[in-house]
Amino acid sequence: MRFTKWFNLKKTPQSAPIPGTSQVRNDNAGYVWAVDDWARLDRFLVLGSEGGTFYVTEQALTRDNAQAVLRCIAADGARAVARIVAVSEAGRAPKNDPALFALALAAKLGDEPTRRAAHAALPRVARIGTHLFHFAEYIKALGGWGRGTMRAFARWYNDMEAGRLALQAVKYQQRDGWSHRDILRKAHPVAASAQHQAIYAWMVKGWDAVDAVPHPDRVLATIWAFERAKRLTSRADVRALAALVCEYGLPHECVPTEMKQHPEIWEALLPQLGTTALLRNLGKMTEVGLLAPMSEAEAVVAARLTDAGALRAARVHPLALLVALKTYAQGHGERGKLRWTPRPRIVDALDRAFYLAFETLAPTGARTLLALDVSGSMCGPPIAGMPGITPRIGSAAMALVTAAIEPRHELVAFTNGSYRSAHSAAGYGSGISPLAISPRMRLDGVLEAVGAVPFGGTDCALPMLWAAEHKVAVDIFCVYTDSETWAGDIHPSQALRAYRQKTGIAAKLVVIGMTSNGFSIADPNDAGMLDVVGFDAATPSIITDFATRTWSASA
Ligand code: CA
Repeated sequence: MRFTKWFNLKKTPQSAPIPGTSQVRNDNAGYVWAVDDWARLDRFLVLGSEGGTFYVTEQALTRDNAQAVLRCIAADGARAVARIVAVSEAGRAPKNDPALFALALAAKLGDEPTRRAAHAALPRVARIGTHLFHFAEYIKALGGWGRGTMRAFARWYNDMEAGRLALQAVKYQQRDGWSHRDILRKAHPVAASAQHQAIYAWMVKGWDAVDAVPHPDRVLATIWAFERAKRLTSRADVRALAALVCEYGLPHECVPTEMKQHPEIWEALLPQLGTTALLRNLGKMTEVGLLAPMSEAEAVVAARLTDAGALRAARVHPLALLVALKTYAQGHGERGKLRWTPRPRIVDALDRAFYLAFETLAPTGARTLLALDVSGSMCGPPIAGMPGITPRIGSAAMALVTAAIEPRHELVAFTNGSYRSAHSAAGYGSGISPLAISPRMRLDGVLEAVGAVPFGGTDCALPMLWAAEHKVAVDIFCVYTDSETWAGDIHPSQALRAYRQKTGIAAKLVVIGMTSNGFSIADPNDAGMLDVVGFDAATPSIITDFATRTWSASA
């Protein structure tokens, strides 16, 4: 009887837990580790739960994540709120909604000190009107407005400098069925100044008439300019509108839709257009002819997109840049009829911008194997609901960031051929294949190349097994996966230990989690394995830190 076939600490099939460990079953048929609630909080804050995963619905994934967030809030409310603020303020997540939702959970369901901390943090997480409206909707769903909530909303308005508040008022007028009027009617702030008072009055009642001359108060003149702009809707008004936009720094939300057909208007908007708005309107600006060959506007836009300082100051997330690049390069939006001929200079600028949005890092010199899970589940719902960016495509882009830093890297894709699909039957075997992509290729080409790789089953041990078999020296394995591994006859952590033993290299493993499920192939009790969040803007620097950390495999 071969007892050790079924009970073996060094080689256990992935369909069974490693004996003596706390492994749990993943959403597939394999056993992995559960990440702790704080790691789950990070995953949720960065990746959200929009669209669910390949295996789990959005509904179930959201519920699981919310429960993990609530456990963090119960265990240490102050730490949870601090984490929410830190991830949100640093722009580490592609969307701010998970942070707003987690903050609402803390504000409604935390203990008294946690609720107070969450309310105090509101302006730091809800930085613009739209965020505030989302937060209001979450609060409503979580049991409604208490006195603490009312005071927090009142402070959001009163503590904001009047000039900025006026701009917020005209820029973000409503969202999710909420307007400033709705919130003011609930929060009843006692105005902090006469200017605040006048802005609140406008938010609630509007103005009956608009004078032909600007409002004498500088702050209220912004609102005046908006009210004037609303009424300028004909071809003959283009110059007057452009002048108003320039003089009062009106945002594009204040421009009547029909006037966005005119390049003169976009030219006027360009200097104050925020980076996010710039990214969303590149197609439109091309279509109306503002971004034209040899044009000044194109040079200005390309320069802005490649200004690393400005990108980081505006908290532009790399994933937003990737989506902008993909959309712009394809010449049409995901919805709507707008079509344009992409300007190569703008596509190139977006490509550079993606890399610039990450912190500048020095190479560590570590021999780095970047291994992408290209199994079927990685073609699942897009990351954070970002159109077209599946976990597989997202992991290729993330791997390229590290590839661009580390000169000694190898990029491979792995899958297990035991998964019988039309693709695997078409000759795509089990194992590791080189991926013909590099940071020198433009990302739209990379996305296409990676999207076309056939898929199969999941065996996350393959990178380590392959390196051992082919005597490839690796200091750090970076595995981009959803940890839904099941197909191999040895666990990834065991394959890593065997690799260390065979080669004498104290190799490390970083698991880059590409969905917000609760699983990881990284053994939490092995200091040479680390679990990080995919598409966290901080992930490449965390990998670099980990690569340089001294560590010796003692066991
Ligand atoms: Ca899979």
